[in-house]
Amino acid sequence: MRRLAAALLFAGASPIAAQTPPAPRPAPKLIVAISVDQYAADLFAQYRNRYTGGLARLLGGAVFPSAYQGHAATETCPGHSTILTGYRPAHTGIIANSWIDQRAGRPDKVVYCAEDERVPGTDHNKYQASDLHLKVPTLGERMKAADPRSRVVSVAGKDRAAIMMGGHKVDELWWWDGDTYISYPGRAVPGAVQRTRDAVAALIARPQTALPLPRYCKPLDRPITVGGVTLGQGRFERTAGDKRAFRASPAADAAVLAMAAGLVQDMKLGRGPAPDLIAVGLSATDYVGHSTGTQGTEMCIQQAELDEAIGGFLGVLDATGVDYEVVLTADHGAHDMTERQMERAMPMEAHMEPGANAKMVGAAIGRDLGIAGPVLLGGEGDVWLDAKLTPAQRTRVLAEAVRRYRTMPQVAAVFTGAEIAATAMPASPPDTWTLIERARASYDPTPSGDLLVLLRPRVTSIEKPGPGYVETHGSPWDYDRRVPVIFWRKGMTGFEQPLSVETVDIMPTLAATLGLKVSGVDGRCLDLDPGPGDSCAR
Ligand SMILES: [Zn+2]
Repeated sequence: MRRLAAALLFAGASPIAAQTPPAPRPAPKLIVAISVDQYAADLFAQYRNRYTGGLARLLGGAVFPSAYQGHAATETCPGHSTILTGYRPAHTGIIANSWIDQRAGRPDKVVYCAEDERVPGTDHNKYQASDLHLKVPTLGERMKAADPRSRVVSVAGKDRAAIMMGGHKVDELWWWDGDTYISYPGRAVPGAVQRTRDAVAALIARPQTALPLPRYCKPLDRPITVGGVTLGQGRFERTAGDKRAFRASPAADAAVLAMAAGLVQDMKLGRGPAPDLIAVGLSATDYVGHSTGTQGTEMCIQQAELDEAIGGFLGVLDATGVDYEVVLTADHGAHDMTERQMERAMPMEAHMEPGANAKMVGAAIGRDLGIAGPVLLGGEGDVWLDAKLTPAQRTRVLAEAVRRYRTMPQVAAVFTGAEIAATAMPASPPDTWTLIERARASYDPTPSGDLLVLLRPRVTSIEKPGPGYVETHGSPWDYDRRVPVIFWRKGMTGFEQPLSVETVDIMPTLAATLGLKVSGVDGRCLDLDPGPGDSCAR
């Protein structure tokens, strides 16, 4: 009844004057693309009402809480390859963090996504970082093609994040290599990077006492023992000199943001004749997740500190007076570790049985069919047939592998490369894709496996948890596919769009605000104007 009364009252008010549509806003001068590694839509949902800093500010923008890294192989490198290219991994060529290429001209046939395996003396652990395998241009490259005066900067806690978001033409590209911030060989170290190197070295040299525990984190403060380590109550205490602990702490994100802020200031980004772009890859949430899961004090503190650090970074951007546009998203999601899920009424949780590993399956097939060699290569997910098999052996092994995987209770589906290749690229909303459509979005015939083995939901690919590795992602299930996408610009009218979109929509959306024409990509422009205007039509 109250609503009806209000309607009657307002009926007596003077009619709203016809409005002339506002003139289109000029393009932003600086694009700021932030990726929070492993920032699952579920994590965002859990903490969005707790934020008071930078993330709270971004919540006033255009919020897509259910965006998708739609593809099956929800890993860091493929995920980052979608964010600023507009293409799914099937087209970026980045189908996984690493794959097996039996034609590689070196003894080690495992190829890391962000390396050049042709460099003599390398292997996939001791590699030369490279953009070689990224097959498509990034937004930064498109900006430079439109106006060579545009500058592109990419910094991150991981090389693959920095490289996949920066692309092939970058003015500055820096990442943490476990020891300090580095780039490709021969690049001069800018002042902002050197200052960050020095500040981080000094920080690591000192011990770190426990970080404050926000009041709302207290219910999570319970011990859980996994892989011989007790977790759940950590507060990022660390001993002097512990670089691994630094990497998996909020300070690692704060350092990358400080380096980004310094580069914005020193390079006067956003104040040149053409728009500039800075990509920022914040990796600590992922390291915190892998080493301690998502439902302990560790992730709760990480979220609070991330919010504050992003707020500090936005404050620096504000002080420059530049009209900048932010997009924030993630490379993939995740969910909590198996052991704590089981404590919290999730009895379906399980670790992958070693018998499902391609090495074991291949050994068994070789023994039973009388074929020498490994027969199958890989672990779970993509599986390759040994290139030394004869055509007749290949046919037999492939059929036998499919048959065996299908009998395994932990396996949800097994597809051959030919089956995936024969599937059309999905054109429906990403929350409705079938399993093989998710696989299709991850499939590039050159690097992809001859078989794809997908585990059932809530079967983690971690066979045995250990220190630093108790939780992971990479599955085709929505807890790993769903991430937030948020656009923010000063003065914009915010809104929330709960229907599903894709991370490949980010590039065409940003391109539209910059007035760049793009066509033929997998993504589509998202209209950021909640009114009758259309930000995609400008
Ligand atoms: Zn990641």
